[in-house]
Amino acid sequence: MTEIRPIQLGFDTCYVLRDAGIVVVDAGQPNKGRAFLRGLSRAAITPEEVGLILLTHAHWDHMGSAAEIKKLTGATLAVHEKEVDWVEHGNPPLPPGVTTWGRIFMAAHRLVMPLIDVPPAEVDRALPDETSALQEFGIPGRVIPTPGHSPGSISVLLDTGEVFVGDLAMNRFPLTLTPGLPIFADDLHRVVESWRRLVELGAQTVFPAHGKPFSIDVIRQCLIQRSEKAHEKDIQNSVDSGP
Ligand SMILES: [Zn+2]
Ligand SMILES: [Zn+2]
Repeated sequence: MTEIRPIQLGFDTCYVLRDAGIVVVDAGQPNKGRAFLRGLSRAAITPEEVGLILLTHAHWDHMGSAAEIKKLTGATLAVHEKEVDWVEHGNPPLPPGVTTWGRIFMAAHRLVMPLIDVPPAEVDRALPDETSALQEFGIPGRVIPTPGHSPGSISVLLDTGEVFVGDLAMNRFPLTLTPGLPIFADDLHRVVESWRRLVELGAQTVFPAHGKPFSIDVIRQCLIQRSEKAHEKDIQNSVDSGP
C-alpha cells in the first residue's frame, strides 16, 4: 500500500507518496526547502530517492519551492502543459473569488502579491491533457486532468482511492470552515465537472492542498444538492415562462 506523508510548506500541504518509488505532490510556498528536507528526514527518505515532483497546478503557493526542491532532489518536475509558462517565468496569475468571502480574500491577496517573490523553475515534463499512469515512477496511480480551479489543474488518483486534488477542493480556515468547493476558481462549472469525474473514477478519500483529508461522500452530497437546486430552478423557470 502506498504510504502518504504530508509535509506542511507554509500555507500549502505537499504530499510525499512512497511505494516502489517516491513522488512529491506540490511544492509549496517559496523558500520552504528546509521544511521539505525536515519532512523527508522524519519519513526516513533521502532527497535523492524522490523521482518526481508533480504540481497539481502552478499557482504561487504550489510551485513556490519547486526550483529549490528540484535542486535538492534532482527529481523530474512535471506540470500540465497549459501551466508550464507560469512555472518557468515565476508569474502565475491569481484566480478570481467565486464566493463573497473568496472575492474579499482575493482582493486582499492581490495587495500583498507584489511583495512575494516567486522563483521560476525549469519544467522537465509537460503533462498532456489526458490521463497518464505513474507506474514509471513506482506509484500505482494516475494523473487525471481536473480543470476548473485553474486551466491545467490535475489530480493524482491512487489505485486504492486516495486522491490528491490541489485546490479543486478546500478544507481549511480561513478559506472554508467545512470541506467543499474552492472559494477561488477560473471556472466553477468545470470544477463541478471535475468533481463528478473523480467520483466516477472511484475516488474515496480527498486530500486537499489546504486542509485535512475528507471522504468523497462530502463531494457526492454537494453534487446531489447542486443538481437538486438546478432542477428546482428549471421548474421555477418553466412556471415563470408558462402560459
Ligand atoms: Zn490554486
Ligand atoms: Zn493553493
